[in-house]
Amino acid sequence: GISVNVDITERVVLEERLRIAADIDELTRALSRRRFYEVMGGEQRRAARYRRPLSLIMFDIDRFKEINDTHGHLAGDQVLVFLSDVVRRQIRDSDYLARFGGDEFLLLLPETPLDGAVRTAERLRAALAQQPCGELGAVKCSFGVCEYTPEETGDDLVRRADRALYQAKAAGRDRVAADPAFPSAHPRAGWDPAM
Ligand code: GH3
Ligand code: MG
Repeated sequence: GISVNVDITERVVLEERLRIAADIDELTRALSRRRFYEVMGGEQRRAARYRRPLSLIMFDIDRFKEINDTHGHLAGDQVLVFLSDVVRRQIRDSDYLARFGGDEFLLLLPETPLDGAVRTAERLRAALAQQPCGELGAVKCSFGVCEYTPEETGDDLVRRADRALYQAKAAGRDRVAADPAFPSAHPRAGWDPAM
């Protein structure tokens, strides 16, 4: 009867809402960490199988705690929204932006080797320097960049991006650092070190 159909429709709508809530960060509308790992697994398999480049950028707001302490948590939230909007305008439809947690974000770049990912990170940094976040001024971030090598797990890849990000922070923040492990340690098939 009709009432049964309505119940089923309501359940479908509810399930859809729950799925979206698990996949997308409510504040920034970036992918959740959980959903990002699923997407990254698929992209890693594709990159390994077809020998395509795949890169990862991890970035984190510089001195975000000061922004929160000085202007309040709501202003801090607005900075997170501002940052994700600026980044989304700078990337391709085929790239994936995720909120890893707190003020840390991940950006997965299919079909992109390390040098292209470094250029992308530099472009994000320049875009942030150019457009102030209201009266708070420019939002600065540090970036860690690495390129996927076949047989690495998602955790391996994130760990290398995190290590590069740590280098960028330690070197003085507001900069991009690339993980040096690639390509010397793990050349792609067809990669010729003499070229
Ligand atoms: P660093 O340059 O080393 O990254 O310095 P930082 O101040 O950004 O250091 P840290 O990463 O330790 O601080 C992150 C802060 O982000 C701490 C936490 O209170 C704040 N934070 C985490 N999640 C949220 C959020 O959703 N909204 C707001 N407003 N603040 C958040
Ligand atoms: Mg930070």
